[in-house]
Amino acid sequence: MIFRLSRPDAKEAWQHPEILKRFPRYKGIIDNAQIARYIIAKTISCSFDARDSLDLLEDILAQKSQEFKAVLNENVESLKDRNLEEKNYIHLIEAIANLYLENCKFCERRCGVNRTIGELGFCHLAKDSYVSSAFTHWGEESVLVPSGTIFFTGCNFGCVFCQNYDISNAWKGRKDIEKFAQKVDGKKLAIIAENLATKGALNINYVGSDPIPCLHTVVESLQYQSINITQLWNSNFYMTEESLNLIIDLMDFWLPDLKYADNECALKYSGIKNYWEVLTRNLKRIHDDGSGEIIIRHLVMPNHIECCSKPILDFIANKLPKAVVNIMGQFRPEYKANKYPEIDRRPTSNEMQEVKKYADNLNILYRPVS
Ligand code: SF4
Repeated sequence: MIFRLSRPDAKEAWQHPEILKRFPRYKGIIDNAQIARYIIAKTISCSFDARDSLDLLEDILAQKSQEFKAVLNENVESLKDRNLEEKNYIHLIEAIANLYLENCKFCERRCGVNRTIGELGFCHLAKDSYVSSAFTHWGEESVLVPSGTIFFTGCNFGCVFCQNYDISNAWKGRKDIEKFAQKVDGKKLAIIAENLATKGALNINYVGSDPIPCLHTVVESLQYQSINITQLWNSNFYMTEESLNLIIDLMDFWLPDLKYADNECALKYSGIKNYWEVLTRNLKRIHDDGSGEIIIRHLVMPNHIECCSKPILDFIANKLPKAVVNIMGQFRPEYKANKYPEIDRRPTSNEMQEVKKYADNLNILYRPVS
């Protein structure tokens, strides 16, 4: 029973009828009444040659995605009868991810570097992925705990208030990364994930810094995982459409950040261009074409209620009605935030109340997970 070792607020959240309605697949996988998407992906046979052109492989990807979605609609008993294919949909995704790595476009920075030969883009990661820690996390949203959290090193953002500076950016330029992070390939990552699953995690939670630069390793690891457990992408979601195409069918649950509604704020505090267009595009996609099981984390920033919090809540209410929201008051003025007086403090309780009242007026579901 999932509540056996859980937090009291988790038990309460799982009794909320809207939570049950919005997270049916996640709950089904926990109860072993549904099958994780990545396992279903392995039952889709896929014939391709890794030497084929990228265009051709992307065409096959689009076809296989359609096939995957048709299979997903089958009932669970028939899904359980399907055989795992030796060469399957995930192999194709892996092949394309490795090609993207040669001209990196995993995120909208589109650095275009060849990471397979050691070239470095903004995130400073070549082809290898590093895990700084992995543990069953009891501090995530109520319905997610215990969460099998895997923290990757390296980030594609440059937030001036970063609370994980040590694993996101501090190591850049240092040659001794392996002193504080473990180099992982797909096999090692799968061992880490399955170890967390056997310790009682309800999901495998890929996070960082950000998991986007390590997407190829996550995909590869799915080939070696076999436990029926929810795969969860916990990210800033500044992904390209191409890289989202690679994981849209594989993830059961999404945990995106949505911080800014104003591109100038995103540029000023995170060094990111076109934040709003990219984020709204990607979140709409996972809502409409992905599993649609989403908790959006909105970090309330001081003095950013009108320009960011309220437009974000408007967008969610209008365009992402299935999403649940975590309205977060944990902003702390860390790292370089003291150079920006307007954010050099925590949000006040008045600011938090104003945001929550605004969410209430829009009928946004946030209380069970905030
Ligand atoms: S993941 Fe993003 S930041 Fe890193 S090299 Fe690729 S495009 Fe650049």
